[in-house]
Amino acid sequence: MLEVKDVSKKYGKLMANNHLSFTLEDGMVGILLGPNGAGKSTIFKSIAGLLRYEGEITIAGYVNKTSEARAALGFVPEIPAMYPNLTVEEHLDFIARAYRLKDYEERKEALLRRFELDDKRRKFGDELSKGMQQKLSICCALLTDPKLIILDEPLVGLDPHAIKELKKTFEELKAQGTTVLISTHMIESVDMIWDKAFILYRGELLATLTKSDLDREGVSLEDKFFELTEGGSEE
Ligand code: ATP
Repeated sequence: MLEVKDVSKKYGKLMANNHLSFTLEDGMVGILLGPNGAGKSTIFKSIAGLLRYEGEITIAGYVNKTSEARAALGFVPEIPAMYPNLTVEEHLDFIARAYRLKDYEERKEALLRRFELDDKRRKFGDELSKGMQQKLSICCALLTDPKLIILDEPLVGLDPHAIKELKKTFEELKAQGTTVLISTHMIESVDMIWDKAFILYRGELLATLTKSDLDREGVSLEDKFFELTEGGSEE
């Protein structure tokens, strides 16, 4: 479903992503782990087609900048970007129109209820708290029922109810066969659902781990992460 082939991204002299290659098969939940500044947001933005980079990225077999790939992808960026002059409800209607969704009302209402935004539907983008913006950004990405959804630090800033609902959403996405890639520092929050973990460090992919391999070794992902990245933050 997602193939990242030899992708590099430089900011000036800094190699934010250094020849990254990894794949996430259909229906898998992948997690991207790495200390601050490891290059997680950079590869997410590249996957979403928002950056220029070297290498190749395909989604569902299509190069990521094609309309087919874009239609298959849902992206929740690290920092939500809402339109100040659109209400919560108008954001979702706008996405529905852009993606030419039909019969989306029921799904929209269910998302608004799930993330406790139903009573905020007439609030404008610039009237929302950071957590509300994050929840709306998640709802926008889920509305299109994407084949692949990538979420950059989605749990940051959410209240306990929203964290619980988002974790439940991950489980449902996995059960329905959606491919999911999540970057997070909260390893315990995704520990039950991940299949593959990618450890990034200073722009390089240090390891690709599978849940079944770690279970066989009897090692927790957290311990493995620290073993591989000892030294902590690079900034
Ligand atoms: P965090 O966990 O703190 O969100 P990250 O793993 O998402 O970090 P990135 O945001 O991808 O890391 O940043 C990777 C490196 O690229 C960092 O050293 C960062 O300072 C640098 N960087 C990111 N964006 C830019 C930019 N627009 N211009 C220059 N350098 C950048």
